[in-house]
Amino acid sequence: MQQLVRVSERFVYLPPYQETDRPVLAAISGDKYTLIIDAGNSADHAKQWLSQLGEKNIKGDWLVLTHWHWDHVFGLSEMNMPIICFTGTLDRVKEMQLLSWEDSALDERVREGSEIPFCADAIKKEFPEQRDIMIPTPDMTFTSKMSLNLGGVTCIIEHVGGDHSPDSSIIYIPVEKILFLGDCLYANMYAKNWCYTVEKVTNMIAKLEQYDTEIAFLSHAEQPMTREEYRAYLDLLSNSAELTERFKGDTGLVAEEMSAMLQRPLNELETETIQFFINGYMQ
Ligand SMILES: [Zn+2]
Repeated sequence: MQQLVRVSERFVYLPPYQETDRPVLAAISGDKYTLIIDAGNSADHAKQWLSQLGEKNIKGDWLVLTHWHWDHVFGLSEMNMPIICFTGTLDRVKEMQLLSWEDSALDERVREGSEIPFCADAIKKEFPEQRDIMIPTPDMTFTSKMSLNLGGVTCIIEHVGGDHSPDSSIIYIPVEKILFLGDCLYANMYAKNWCYTVEKVTNMIAKLEQYDTEIAFLSHAEQPMTREEYRAYLDLLSNSAELTERFKGDTGLVAEEMSAMLQRPLNELETETIQFFINGYMQ
């Protein structure tokens, strides 16, 4: 079972669990209020998190969603607190409320292309039997950016978009220099070939660059990124975008130039990232 990790006096998180695609959940506490980030992929996941928070005497007052994907919202029914999200996230949650999550319905959506096998399989694993999923409607929405004063700590919540999910929003805590990214740096997994697009990544990075970041959380990464690791990830994305454009989607030339820039052979993540940009360019 995943165990709560304390990063600072104010910030704690529950690491991800890859087997059933459970994302990182986090909580930031000010002198007056606590903000919970994401609801988890099931009532079980949410309960596990709430009970570990309870042991530390942490009680959530608000919850914010990073985006609409199932693994971030299916735990909402357990989260007895007001839910905040981007307007686009609210729209998608309302659509999800109408869906059935039984095997036959999931399989049908995979067949017609509105769901992907990766998610359908993880949902079946997370919910082997009972699948009575209830997703409450979020209570408060924002259209581009908002801030929350938790008492001595301010959180900035901003919609940044990107390829993974157009509604992706980040949470930044200035006093801690912690940036919670959700899934926003990942590729679009709903496309036929997983992809990044130059324009979406460039716009997203311009927004992310505003935030001076010491620790960055990606929802499905075992460990948070240091400043240097995060910088390297952003550089990989922006260099891949720039080279994809310059070499008009020629995989060989992009890889060759990237390898020359780094003065070493490319690793798996770099090769894969370039391929996703080429996939996006070819669409
Ligand atoms: Zn996602």
